[in-house]
Amino acid sequence: MPLRSGTAPPVPFNDLRPQYQSLRDDIDAAIARVLNGGRVILGPEVEAFEQEFAGYCGVAHGVGLASGTDALSIGLKALGVRPGDEVITVANAGVPPVAAVELAGARPVLVDIDPSTHTMAPEAFRAAITTRTRAVVVVQLYGQPADMEPLLAIARQRGVRVLEDCAQAHGAMYRGRRCGSVGDAAAFSFYPTKNLGGYGDGGMLVTADPDVADQARLLRQYGWRTAYYSEIPGLNSRLDELQAAILRVKLRHLDTANDARRRIARRYTEALEDLAPVREAQYAQHVYHLYVVQVAQRDALRSFLSERGVSSAIHYPIASHLQAAYARLGTGLGSLPVSERAAETVLSLPLFPELSEEDAERVIEACRSFLSVA
Ligand SMILES: *Cc1c(COP(=O)(O)O)cnc(C)c1O
Repeated sequence: MPLRSGTAPPVPFNDLRPQYQSLRDDIDAAIARVLNGGRVILGPEVEAFEQEFAGYCGVAHGVGLASGTDALSIGLKALGVRPGDEVITVANAGVPPVAAVELAGARPVLVDIDPSTHTMAPEAFRAAITTRTRAVVVVQLYGQPADMEPLLAIARQRGVRVLEDCAQAHGAMYRGRRCGSVGDAAAFSFYPTKNLGGYGDGGMLVTADPDVADQARLLRQYGWRTAYYSEIPGLNSRLDELQAAILRVKLRHLDTANDARRRIARRYTEALEDLAPVREAQYAQHVYHLYVVQVAQRDALRSFLSERGVSSAIHYPIASHLQAAYARLGTGLGSLPVSERAAETVLSLPLFPELSEEDAERVIEACRSFLSVA
């Protein structure tokens, strides 16, 4: 029989409650402020949060949107992507980047990743560029940026616009610059479990480019500059006032929460060297949205942990080009070997800012006993 450590409850993969409990007074006050103000769509909270979050990222403009996926597709359109264009991205980040390229009317071209950081490999990017390539979506995966300098150099040389997917990288740094300020524009998600998350869906496009911000602002509401007069075809993708008010409270605690994530990650890395964690690159400050290890016997480790009351998850179990929905993209099995291998070996361990030291030690102990019997 597997050894459950006494009657201890399982170690959760994530838990949203302790953060709410510690910020309850401020969050409840923010919600009451919105409801008493009577303005619930595109009002003062969204405007203030756009300023505050763009400022945090180190750029001038923020456009609050309904989700991170919308921030990607609206970002691509605002950067000039048009139907028939090709957009290069990766296959190991779940499907949102691929879905967003198609939502923007373009064709996703998937390239392989660097085996040490699991982010886009610059040479693979270079090799995939054609005369139709309009943009690249660089995913800042698990909480750390790709190596942006070589990617930017190639993109500049070939006239390709760079959209950062920062849905997992709020507060992460690339060579001292905040993720979100490195490319031409950046898409963030405020899905509840992200490093900065609301209590519902939400997203933002941030950019230093006033024209890109202006286009995104038009696109998010039917192309209106003035209500009911459409300058361009758009859609409805608005961040709401309640989420914005809550996110303003949480933004003030983002750095502290990221520090807590980094502390737990440091402890994991000291103890779990043998599980080949995806490490912090020398150019990066990693904010550990996810703590990912790589093991050949991944599924065995996962059940071993589960029997010992330790949750885990797989980000992500199928590379995008092997998904039923995207087989038609035509890059079959074997075309992206590093991404395909990653899908078979990655495992994410429990990590969130309020994870207790005792629970982190239980995760470590369970992993180490797997290693000793494996
Ligand atoms: C969560 C996520 C998204 C999508 O964000 P939503 O707000 O859920 O639409 C995009 N890219 C990555 C890498 C993500 O992790």
